[in-house]
Amino acid sequence: MGESSLKIIHYPHPTLRHRSKPVRRVDAKLKSMISEMFDLMYEASGIGLAANQVDLPLRFFVCNLAGERGEGEELVFINPVISRPKGNEEREEGCLSLPGVCAPVKRPASVHFEAYGLDGTAFQAELDGMMARVVQHEVDHLDGVMFIDRLPPTVEMNVGPELEEFSLEFQSRRSTGEIPDDEALAQRLADIENEYAVVD
Ligand code: ZN
Repeated sequence: MGESSLKIIHYPHPTLRHRSKPVRRVDAKLKSMISEMFDLMYEASGIGLAANQVDLPLRFFVCNLAGERGEGEELVFINPVISRPKGNEEREEGCLSLPGVCAPVKRPASVHFEAYGLDGTAFQAELDGMMARVVQHEVDHLDGVMFIDRLPPTVEMNVGPELEEFSLEFQSRRSTGEIPDDEALAQRLADIENEYAVVD
């Protein structure tokens, strides 16, 4: 990883389909990457960003419902676990890995979660509204799932042409070598997992 800065990757980058590994330790380098993730999230006008969206194979995400530096609360969810889903609610979702694509997604209206903060302290809460939505969207990312996977077929058809454009863009970036081949990507993820993930 060196000193190179992080970038938000777009659909259909393979790391977005990688199941993230639990974090074993947080050091200064990982903290600096987390701070960089907040910068990227604000630049892109987002409210949540999962580690694999910046090509890191680790189980954590950052969020700030205010979406602006200096406003709201900056939260880091490390090794989050969701349970006790209740109700059902449809809300418009977008994703920083699919800029410009929006669609209504049905999810449980409220969930319970447990996670660790940056200082290693466990925290948990019952969530509803926007926060429940963001946490579910981000935990999906960590499992390699994107919101477009949760659309009913009719809505999926509507976003099809936009997804096709992202696929063409990806192929073109790969053909220039800007995005490495699958083998090189997998090796990079394995190196980061060796450094930071729980060994199973
Ligand atoms: Zn997303």
